[in-house]
Amino acid sequence: MRKILVAGNWKMHGSKAMVSELLEGLLAGSSADGKADLLVFPPFPYLPLTESVLAGTHIRYGGQNLNPNAQGAHTGETSGGMLKDFGCHYALVGHSERRAIYGESDHDVALRFKAALDAGLHPILCVGETLEEREEGQTEAVVARQLDAVIEFVGIESFRKAVIAYEPVWAIGTGLTATPEQAQSVHAFIRDKLTSLNVIIAGQLRILYGGSVNGSNAAELFAQSDIDGGLVGGASLTAEAFLAIYSAID
Ligand code: PEP
Repeated sequence: MRKILVAGNWKMHGSKAMVSELLEGLLAGSSADGKADLLVFPPFPYLPLTESVLAGTHIRYGGQNLNPNAQGAHTGETSGGMLKDFGCHYALVGHSERRAIYGESDHDVALRFKAALDAGLHPILCVGETLEEREEGQTEAVVARQLDAVIEFVGIESFRKAVIAYEPVWAIGTGLTATPEQAQSVHAFIRDKLTSLNVIIAGQLRILYGGSVNGSNAAELFAQSDIDGGLVGGASLTAEAFLAIYSAID
């Protein structure tokens, strides 16, 4: 049985006051024996504050990205070991904004996925097609290519500790959500692909949906058989909106 995971990607939003208020609100409105696991991705500067509020609680947190290298002359970058040092359990890799705005290739994403594992973190691998690719009927081919780049580099065994997030690029931050049927169809494609490589890993792996998830659409999306939770951007920035998603799960 896969437990629902609700993960909040704060992107480049926040302040010390906002982070404290949001985290305290999430702690007050959720519990360790709830139906879903909660996870947040604050911007790097707020990791010490996040650690001070969340250490020893049921809410996990992680880094929004990491450098493929363990250390060295990489000005402005952050390693997996540094994330671990601040109590992170997870790292996002391959978010579409990293791919599109910062030019991360499929291979760069594979390097980051491996770096996360090497540091003892759970990578959340983001995959998904653009609107143009969907309209050209390329959705499965794009998602398969993004997955293959990582599987070929690290091997299917490495997915034991991973999570996958299917995030159609056209649904991120746009208010457009994939229908539950559209999302389920791609999630099933991903799980079938992994099943052909390792049936146990594929059965245990959580596959999140991301793209304008909110308190009104979460229940129907998460009720799909291969959707195991959500990666949430905009609606993770207030405790009220994020907890509306957490509470929508039955
Ligand atoms: C995201 O950033 O991964 C995301 C899904 O954002 P939003 O929920 O705002 O669409």
